[in-house]
Amino acid sequence: MHNTKYVFVTGGVTSSLGKGIIAASLAKLLQERGFSVTIQKLDPYINIDPGTLNPYEHGECYVTDDGAETDLDLGHYERYLNIPTSQANNVTTGRIYQSVINKERKGEFLGKTVQVIPHITDEIKRRIQLLGETGEYDIVITEIGGTVGDIESLPYVESVRQMLWEKGEENAIVIHLTLVPYLAAAGELKTKPTQHSVKMLMQSGVSPDILVCRTEHEISDDIKRKLALFCNVKKEDVIQSIDAETIYDVPNLMLDEGLDEVVLKKLQLESKQKPALKTWNNFLQKHKNPKSEVEIGLIGKYIELQDSYKSITEAFIHAGSSNETKVKVRWIHSESLSPKSVEKKLEGLNGILVAPGFGDRGIEGKIKAVKYARENNIPFFGICLGMQMSVIEFARNVLNLEGASSSEMNKSAKHPVINLMDSQKNITEKGGTMRLGAWDCEIKKDSKAYNAYKSELISERHRHRYEFNNKYLSQIEEAGLKATGINPKTGLVEVVELKNHPWFVGVQYHPEYKSTVLKPHPLFVDFIKAALKQSKK
Ligand code: GLN
Repeated sequence: MHNTKYVFVTGGVTSSLGKGIIAASLAKLLQERGFSVTIQKLDPYINIDPGTLNPYEHGECYVTDDGAETDLDLGHYERYLNIPTSQANNVTTGRIYQSVINKERKGEFLGKTVQVIPHITDEIKRRIQLLGETGEYDIVITEIGGTVGDIESLPYVESVRQMLWEKGEENAIVIHLTLVPYLAAAGELKTKPTQHSVKMLMQSGVSPDILVCRTEHEISDDIKRKLALFCNVKKEDVIQSIDAETIYDVPNLMLDEGLDEVVLKKLQLESKQKPALKTWNNFLQKHKNPKSEVEIGLIGKYIELQDSYKSITEAFIHAGSSNETKVKVRWIHSESLSPKSVEKKLEGLNGILVAPGFGDRGIEGKIKAVKYARENNIPFFGICLGMQMSVIEFARNVLNLEGASSSEMNKSAKHPVINLMDSQKNITEKGGTMRLGAWDCEIKKDSKAYNAYKSELISERHRHRYEFNNKYLSQIEEAGLKATGINPKTGLVEVVELKNHPWFVGVQYHPEYKSTVLKPHPLFVDFIKAALKQSKK
């Protein structure tokens, strides 16, 4: 049987230390050494998945091929590793309790009292091992969301403790990520918060094997020794993680610190091959030394929290690097675009991206941005709601269909050019009921989309309820907005493009989810290329 090894990543002191990036960076290094690795995130909140969360709460909701609505860290895992994740890679407390309660209702606990220990912890351990049991992975890295000491995290830490005991020290280890703050007044780095958080972890019976310490300043040998002594680890197991210019520097920083080596040593895994990071460094080199610059307007309604558009901004970075161009983002609140301000706010942009979203807040502003891009020949990229807005704008302003709208915004719209899918009409529950995950799409040859993809059949991920209304298809196409991507099974329009425009593409799906360092998304690459062309005019 395949002996999968487990690495747990816990966090201490504060949240937002970047556990996801550390986990992804370690995974990248191990992958480069020839191991097959995957990463999983356990989220201690009670929602079944983040699909029902407002982006202001938790940033973007990331969608996998199998249609799971997940934490945005899974986006980092895919961007770093270039392998797809699935539902099994993200588990929440809600999902754990749901399975346990379903079993209880079926009588599967045979009259026993159902408790956090062992029933909830057993279910957590089962979910952790699901990925390992596929036999596909040498190493499964499991990131425990939240901060050690949170009430919600307790069952997870207990499950980790049990797994360490069951698997043995050469098969399961814990990396604890903490903060070593710098006190400017004292001119010193402080170790006490780390000591306290390790103590907290130890109270739950878990001793970290490795400490990764986030810091703004170099951690001296003396401080490493002090941390090692008080946290009960060896000095070489204290790894510094200094603030980086970009998250894509972190694998190299971890390589310099030898994180992969200490992990392999503890797991008793042999690897002679040092991580080469060739493609990775080539990407970084181009990212850091751009030859030109473009400015893209990102029109959205959640821009106060830029994490809401994480995959889009990362896809810009990938596409920028492959065009050797710096992509500067101008964040534009869709609600701020009035007939008066639109010109001023969008002036000078080399490209306009209208972002995904739900509900009617800010949509009139999005429609104005589409109109501006269409009339001024500015490269335009509409994603999901952004594509829908481009269809509405075209119907209203080119076809003169007054009152054209989406039935999401106006149930009694005179011209519902965007309409609820039939399959959605009787659905009342919100969670997990959208059109989700990967769907095939046929691309017409004479199109911008084909130029980018160089393929007639693609697969992209979806997350929406509303669709292009095919009743209006011939009218819209005749007037010049062409449907160049069609779902072969359902006939649904997935891509629209404007003829006689330098680059105007709207997609019903979310291409941003599939952009990785190794494979920047072709539509993003082409969009930035068009913006670059525009900038030279
Ligand atoms: N609100 C739109 C729909 O449900 C678009 C969704 C999105 O942009 N992800 O169809």
